[in-house]
Amino acid sequence: MVCSPLPGGETPQRGWQFPREGVFFAADFPGARLTDCASLGADAFEAVVRPENLPVNDSPWFAFRVRSEREKKITLRLRCQGGSLRYRPKISLDGAQWVLLPEECYRPDAERKEALLTLETGPRPLLVAAQEPVSRVEIENWAATMERLPFVTRSTFGSSVKGVPLLRLDVGNSAAEPKVVVIGRQHPPETTGSLALMRFVECVAGDTELARRFRAEFHLVVMPLLNPDGVDAGHWRHNLGLVDLNRDWQGFAQPESRAARDQILALGEKGGLLLLLDFHSTFRDVFYTQPDSIVSAPPGFTSRWLAGIGTRVPDYRAERKASPTPTSNTSISWAHRTFGIPAITYEIGDHTDRTQLRRVAMAAAEEMMNLLLETLGQPSSKS
Ligand SMILES: [Zn+2]
Repeated sequence: MVCSPLPGGETPQRGWQFPREGVFFAADFPGARLTDCASLGADAFEAVVRPENLPVNDSPWFAFRVRSEREKKITLRLRCQGGSLRYRPKISLDGAQWVLLPEECYRPDAERKEALLTLETGPRPLLVAAQEPVSRVEIENWAATMERLPFVTRSTFGSSVKGVPLLRLDVGNSAAEPKVVVIGRQHPPETTGSLALMRFVECVAGDTELARRFRAEFHLVVMPLLNPDGVDAGHWRHNLGLVDLNRDWQGFAQPESRAARDQILALGEKGGLLLLLDFHSTFRDVFYTQPDSIVSAPPGFTSRWLAGIGTRVPDYRAERKASPTPTSNTSISWAHRTFGIPAITYEIGDHTDRTQLRRVAMAAAEEMMNLLLETLGQPSSKS
């Protein structure tokens, strides 16, 4: 069956009630996605997830809640139309603590078009999601908390298709010319990218001698959520204009990519833009970079940075891949083309252990601060 996208690619916020079985499904919260639901009898159900539009990247996001009048075990055939299942579901009762559904409760078919889930349900709604969500509200609350630090300011710039103002945090010395730009969440399901971005920024805003020295001389500009509408709507990939924002850095047809571009252009006007990092998620940890032959300040930044991260995190080797061609329409190609700076996609694996994710993000921040201070900072009486 060919599915037609809903106007604007929005998920209808709705519920499915099966009073005979006493089982209720709902996709009525921001970030939820469940397209349809049916009873197959005998406490067996079928749920379908469809993307916002086609074609789309194969990253089927789903998030919904289910409850039953009595404690019981149900089976749920989760079918994915327009993609193949990428995420093994996680469950939560409170939306804060999430656990991975064990293998015996998740049986995908050979093509991963569908999977049979066994769920233990009861009167308290059980949340089921592709990944532990990192919602728009969560990122906004995080930014508001960060702003309470004396050297962090929060502002907004431009707005999304739906009119949501886009968030910006400035960390450190905003009068300083040497600047680093961090952007994130162009792609809604890429929650591990958000987690790493937040830990990275917290490290730069940290209470350490290194971070204090960095903040005195440098300026970090963070745009943590470039696709708030897509995150709210539980999209697989696109914004509300049904466009992949990280393929829009040439035509700039979407308000989110235009607004981010204008911010970065204004920052780069007087020079001093050193580096752009764009946080994403994929199947494994990998950094997309330009070749070492590019001239950058400091020289050889990328290879020194990645080697340094590897040294700081035991048993970790930062995998490096060549970025798409310099003429491509991704954020990093645009930034490199426009400013000649290293512009790196920082991809975190979907299943990367969250403690390891934090370690690597902190090492990445520390190593960046060290390298920039060492090569461009004022000489200090560092102990
Ligand atoms: Zn991505």
